[in-house]
Amino acid sequence: LPEETALLEIRGLQVAFGGFRALDGVDLTVGRGELRFLIGPNGAGKTTLIDVITGLTKPTAGTVRFEGRDLAGRREHEIVRLGVGRTFQTSVVFEELTVLENLDLAASFRRPLWSLLRRGRGVSEEVAAALETIGLTSLARSRAGVLSHGQRQWLEIGMLIVQRPRLLLLDEPVAGMASDERERTGELLTEIARDHTVIVVEHDMDFLRRYASQVTVLHEGKVLMEGSVDEVRADPHVQEIYLGR
Ligand code: ADP
Repeated sequence: LPEETALLEIRGLQVAFGGFRALDGVDLTVGRGELRFLIGPNGAGKTTLIDVITGLTKPTAGTVRFEGRDLAGRREHEIVRLGVGRTFQTSVVFEELTVLENLDLAASFRRPLWSLLRRGRGVSEEVAAALETIGLTSLARSRAGVLSHGQRQWLEIGMLIVQRPRLLLLDEPVAGMASDERERTGELLTEIARDHTVIVVEHDMDFLRRYASQVTVLHEGKVLMEGSVDEVRADPHVQEIYLGR
């Protein structure tokens, strides 16, 4: 991968909690437009890695470069403004608001204040496009509180998209979903990856087999290996530590 196409470049990343190294020298390069899956057993450091990229956790050593800028030491809101969006395992959807209002609110975070005066003048193009992408157009006027678990996850992804990030970090987006919702989510990720770079933390191997192209395996705070799903699955070390065989 030529240097100039890398959107995210992490070098020698280390995070220590007391004497314990949750991340211990992680190098990771993610190119523009990639859909990268991040796997690894519990405690491997996946969440810590996402937390460092998004400014929630400060690294002890190493660099995180996003579009050539070092993110280490920047605050969360600054990193959001630079174009990095993430989902959390806890929901950020406002249940009393409609699907549309949730998207509108999320979109307003990057609009000038005066644009709030235009409320009620219909649905903005970007919100309409996001509704279409996440497949919730027919539920636009429904309260978010009535959505299924899967639909709520899609709404959260929509709320990220309208903020126009260039890098999206999704933490276990199919956890707790029924199989039809998983399938729809896989299609959604594929679609989003057409105009965004996406990093997905995901455990589900069947899901990976269907939708992942490039996989990074974390283990004990280090990158164990990178490769296609087939390469990763065939690796004896990965099978031992991750698949428990
Ligand atoms: P994963 O997401 O892969 O399950 P985490 O990044 O959550 O792994 O955790 C990596 C390791 O770091 C775990 O052993 C966890 O207990 C430890 N850890 C994470 N956050 C903290 C913290 N704030 N203080 C101390 N230890 C932590």
